[in-house]
Amino acid sequence: MAKKDIDWENIGFGYIKTDNRYVTNFKDGKWDDGVITEDDKVVISECAGVLQYSQSCFEGLKAYTTEDGRVVTFRPDLNDARMHDTCLRLEMPTLPEGRFVEAVDKVVKANLDWVPPYGSGATLYIRPYMFGSNPVIGVKPADEYQFRIFVTPVGPYFKGGAKPVKLKISDFDRAAPRGTGHIKAGLNYAMSLHAIVTAHKEGYDENLYLDPATRTKIEETGGANLIFVDHDGNLVIPKSSSILPSITRRSLHVVAEKYLGCKVTEREVLLSEVEDGAFAEAGLCGTAAVISPVGSIDDHGKVIYLPSGMEKMGPVTQKLYDTLTGIQMGHIEGPEGWVHVIE
Ligand SMILES: *Cc1c(COP(=O)(O)O)cnc(C)c1O
Repeated sequence: MAKKDIDWENIGFGYIKTDNRYVTNFKDGKWDDGVITEDDKVVISECAGVLQYSQSCFEGLKAYTTEDGRVVTFRPDLNDARMHDTCLRLEMPTLPEGRFVEAVDKVVKANLDWVPPYGSGATLYIRPYMFGSNPVIGVKPADEYQFRIFVTPVGPYFKGGAKPVKLKISDFDRAAPRGTGHIKAGLNYAMSLHAIVTAHKEGYDENLYLDPATRTKIEETGGANLIFVDHDGNLVIPKSSSILPSITRRSLHVVAEKYLGCKVTEREVLLSEVEDGAFAEAGLCGTAAVISPVGSIDDHGKVIYLPSGMEKMGPVTQKLYDTLTGIQMGHIEGPEGWVHVIE
């Protein structure tokens, strides 16, 4: 056992093939026992359900090395519960009780040499996913599925500090009102690609999607929820049934209330409030970056600059970030059950 010889600080956010992955198959109405394997290749029928009708979903979480050298994950039970909800909505089989977290633990243990060391800023990204694997040509759910987990080390999201991002109010929609916006389905990402490529060409970092029914309310970006801080330092979180329930955002809600003593309100947030200057700070939250500060929001040429500016995180956002990452890295005591020790 020796850590891989990797320049941890400079690896970026890309796929690096590690030694081991977890695979389990669903057939004849049940899951097999699951194995750790070195085989990174997936061999499926040319007519597999996932290839024809995109029956696939995923999760994303990280393993960290804490200050005292433990390897931990953060609230993996919530990834398990969210994948369960996603599978039900996509007519996919759910995993047996307890299997998700057990499989995450196994695959991290089988790749311990790939877990970046404490202090490097890098982490081990964990990607559980499931897809319909048997031939499907008439439109219906597959009968057979594969659930896999691979891991890949990822570098610090922000090199040299978090630079505020530039958002654009998108002309595209992310999620229909009673559609699939609240689940982690691959199809939500497939249809966002044209919008994000377009936004990048125009010089923006991300698209900010509005509610598709009225186009007046803030939803989220392609892969992160939004939070706002008002001028009294309190947290305002957009609420909608088509926003993906981010675990980072739900954790920040608790951190703001219990650790920072902020008032937290989850409610519909109108674009017009943002334009009228109701907020002092805004941030994007998700597993990858924890929080990315928002610098500006461009609504068709009318640019809203958040008072926190284009250089650094606002003070409340910074405190939220420091507290949550402190809990994840083990130097701040988290609420019961948040830090799951693997090794
Ligand atoms: C995964 C995801 C997020 C972030 O969720 P976390 O659980 O915090 O990583 C936010 N929005 C969308 C659309 C996502 O797919």
